Amino acid sequence: MPVTSDVDRPETAPDGPALPVNELFASLQGEGKLAGVPSTFVRTSGCNLRCWFCDSYHTSWEPTHAWLSVAGVVSEVHARDPSHVVLTGGEPTIHDESFELLRRLGDEYHLTVETNGTVVPPADVPIDLASVSPKLASSTPTPERAPDGADAGDWAERHEAARVGVDALATLVDRYDSQLKFVVTGRDDVAEVVDLVERVRAAASVPVPDTGVLLMPEGRTREQLAGTRTTVAELAAEYGFRYTPRIHVDLWNDAPET
Ligand code: SF4
Repeated sequence: MPVTSDVDRPETAPDGPALPVNELFASLQGEGKLAGVPSTFVRTSGCNLRCWFCDSYHTSWEPTHAWLSVAGVVSEVHARDPSHVVLTGGEPTIHDESFELLRRLGDEYHLTVETNGTVVPPADVPIDLASVSPKLASSTPTPERAPDGADAGDWAERHEAARVGVDALATLVDRYDSQLKFVVTGRDDVAEVVDLVERVRAAASVPVPDTGVLLMPEGRTREQLAGTRTTVAELAAEYGFRYTPRIHVDLWNDAPET
C-alpha cells in the first residue's frame, strides 16, 4: 500500500487550473458551530500530515482522486442547492488552486475551510469560517499505530515536525471567524489542548473564547464514537470548552459522501 506525501500533478489541465478531488457531494455539516447546516462538500486529496486516525484515508495515506478544473468544480457546486460550501480534505490549503476556487465562489456562498492549521492562505482569499483542527501529539502515527495495512514509514517524524505552528494558528484566528476543533482521543489529550490554546491566545490579536474551542470525540464509526464521546463531552463540561458531535457518523456511520 503506497504512502504518498504528495499527489501527482497532471501535465496539462484541459480546462484551466485543476484540483485533485476525492469527493464532491451535498449533505449536512456534521461537526462544529455549523453542525446540521446543508452544505456542499468539496473534498480535495492530499495532506501534509498523516494522523493515524484520519477519517479520510483516501485523501492522506492513499490519495485517490480525479482531477477537476476549478471551473468544473464551480459548475458542480452551482448544480447543488446548499448556500454553504465546505472545502475540506485532506488538507485543501496545500493546493494553490483551492484559493482560486474560494475566490470564484466567495460572492455567492458561505465558505467554510476545514484545515489542520499549518498553512495560511493568501490574504485576499475569502473564508467565512476557518474550521481549524490543530493536531495533538496523540494523532502521530507509529508503526504500531497506523491505519490497517499502511506503512507509516518516516511519517512519525514528518508529522510531528509539521503538525503545529502557533504563528499560523494565530494568523488564522486573527484573520477569520474561526473555530479551533480538536480531535480528542481521551483525557490525556486535554492538557495539550489547554496549553496550545493559551499559546495561540498569547500570539493572536483577537480574543479566543472558550466557546470557540471545540472538543470532538475521535471515532470514524458509531462503534468507535461510542467509546469516546461521553468522556469528551464530560471533559468539555469540566474545562468550559464546547463539545461538538459528529452527526454524520451518528446518522450514516462511515458511509462515503456523508
Ligand atoms: S490532518 Fe486531517 S486529512 Fe490530514 S491526515 Fe490528519 S485527519 Fe487526515
